[in-house]
Amino acid sequence: MLNTLRLRWLDNLLGLFYPNLCLACGRNLPPRQEGICISCRYKLPRTHFHQEADNPFTERFWGRIPLQAGAAFLHFTKGGRTQRLIHHLKYEGKREVGIYLGNLYGQELREAPVFREATLILPVPLHPRKQHRRGYNQSALFARGLSEAMGIPWLPDGLKRTEYTATQTKKSRLERFNNVEKAFVIPHPEKIKQQHVLLVDDVATTGATLEACALKVLEVEGTKVSMATIGIAQ
Ligand SMILES: [Zn+2]
Repeated sequence: MLNTLRLRWLDNLLGLFYPNLCLACGRNLPPRQEGICISCRYKLPRTHFHQEADNPFTERFWGRIPLQAGAAFLHFTKGGRTQRLIHHLKYEGKREVGIYLGNLYGQELREAPVFREATLILPVPLHPRKQHRRGYNQSALFARGLSEAMGIPWLPDGLKRTEYTATQTKKSRLERFNNVEKAFVIPHPEKIKQQHVLLVDDVATTGATLEACALKVLEVEGTKVSMATIGIAQ
């Protein structure tokens, strides 16, 4: 009893110096709880898109990519929980957020027949210099979390981003797209051959990056493509 009281006292004291905050809402977490508070776990703005074959995610790719399935886990809004989580994942070194969200979403996706048919998970790669600076690729962490929960293998380097860059400003949509397309390579096509690839990324906005990656994958013999992201922006 005394020990428990002492520990709680110590926890509270430490909390003053090292506040343990929920990564989604920023409020104080109870002692010995980590990551996301219980309230946020329930209130995550889930899209439930994976339950519908045609949904606002797949609509973005109509006429661009023949998708087997596509969905985003959460709605991404300015100042919302998803934006906070992604910020921690990308800019605050909180790698565990990516794995955690992958685990959560993987548990839902494995109940969706089309997603369950995927045979290989590939993360959208970062530009090598950016990855070097950050130390990790946030989409790869999400891929790892999904892989664990779905029991589907993932390849960290199935797709690679080349060093190629050109300034994107003052270019037409087509020129921009051609730039993005040249940015990706598949170093070992034999590892992708005949696979139903689940491409994953952090946030889907215009979908241009995912589209360029999908086109690369579809150049390899016998491939099919599905997509999943953590967030989808309006
Ligand atoms: Zn919270």
